[in-house]
Amino acid sequence: MMKPICRFIDFETGKIGSNAKITKRYLSDLEGVFRDIDALRSMFNRDILVYEVHEIVVPERAGEITHGTSIIYPGKVGDEYFMTKGHFHVRAGGEVYLCLKGEGYILMEEKGGRSSYSKMIPGSLVYVPPLWAHRTINMGTKEFTCFYAFPSEVGHDYESIEKKGFSKLFLERDGKPVIENAHRDHQDSFLG
Ligand code: ZN
Repeated sequence: MMKPICRFIDFETGKIGSNAKITKRYLSDLEGVFRDIDALRSMFNRDILVYEVHEIVVPERAGEITHGTSIIYPGKVGDEYFMTKGHFHVRAGGEVYLCLKGEGYILMEEKGGRSSYSKMIPGSLVYVPPLWAHRTINMGTKEFTCFYAFPSEVGHDYESIEKKGFSKLFLERDGKPVIENAHRDHQDSFLG
């Protein structure tokens, strides 16, 4: 049986007290995520930390809620902003994201191709419905940190995204952030 847990999130660093499980994703872990492969490989010699996840580990069974923080560092690969790999949940289960620091976007996409994205600043609260893939992107100049929570039993499917990618690109053009279609035939909704 789990006991009640009380922890403290430092909003500045995104770190959660002690005993959080920390996963770090470096550029070399993210081949296939960014479109400019040459730019990605040219940066490997400095193998830069792109994002980290601090998670409160609970058993993966019905009724439990996995929760933690994701911290995406500022940066780009070529003209594409640093972002998470993104995933579907294997089983139906939604997820909540609350921005704590910085600014960025959350991109959500159904298997059928419909996508939706929303700008996030501290206080932005986003509900990702079940069966929507999701990724977060740092389009700011400091860390982009979110708190997240989802049903622990849902499981993660990274492979579908690795194969097909998302339909939107988050790029810098002439010093300004822009969002472009990666390919055609997608219905979109911008949440503001
Ligand atoms: Zn998720």
